Amino acid sequence: MKQVYFMIAETTIAEQIHAVHSRIQAACLRTGRSPETVQLMLVTKTVSIADIQVALDCGETLLGENKVQEALAKAKSLQNSPVHWHFIGHLQTNKVKDVLKFATCVQSVDRLELAQKLSQRLQQDERELPILIQVNTSYEESKFGVAPEQALELIQRVAELPGLQLQGLMTIGLFSEQEQPVRDCFKRLRELQAQARALALPKASWDVLSMGMSGDFEWAIEEGATLIRVGSLIFGART
Ligand SMILES: *Cc1c(COP(=O)(O)O)cnc(C)c1O
Repeated sequence: MKQVYFMIAETTIAEQIHAVHSRIQAACLRTGRSPETVQLMLVTKTVSIADIQVALDCGETLLGENKVQEALAKAKSLQNSPVHWHFIGHLQTNKVKDVLKFATCVQSVDRLELAQKLSQRLQQDERELPILIQVNTSYEESKFGVAPEQALELIQRVAELPGLQLQGLMTIGLFSEQEQPVRDCFKRLRELQAQARALALPKASWDVLSMGMSGDFEWAIEEGATLIRVGSLIFGART
């Protein structure tokens, strides 16, 4: 019985991955974009190593986690696999050391204090780290991220810190079934991207727009997302 169950689960994950790629492609076609301009990140929080392995066997290589200890344990289990781990959750400054053990990008830099801690640690380790600035485009109090009005000031301060490679912006859209307010969040992020570019900061590039999740990734692609973060649609609802 157990084997039968696993076969079904594996088929489902593989099928869902395939379906998401088809939907990415369709959304790109609708907006005249090339599908290669959108990267799919699989969000593996609460997902077992066995299920992650199914996704890796499908050729996926970009994974996202929002809890440092969970991510660290998974990264160790999968250290021989060709995967990239991005950190996408709220990051406490006392976890900076641990995040640097596995993350190839921290997408959730949302305050100067955190950027400074990352920078200090990176200088000690004599390395650099790509980062994104997380913006709270939905203005929901429950969400992390710098307020859109304060984002450019934060960006200018962060750009001065050694070790950090500013590569773009990240946001979580409003949780809503209504299309327009969700799209407005993504539009806000894209406007900020243009404003950040206009600052012409040395060393910073603004190509990455990380936005769109299971429920809204097609809208995000239509609004310019270059990286979408999909979890439950592929691995099932988190319990
Ligand atoms: C959990 C999570 C996702 C994925 O959410 P789904 O709705 O399951 O696709 C994306 N981004 C962040 C920051 C998350 O925490």
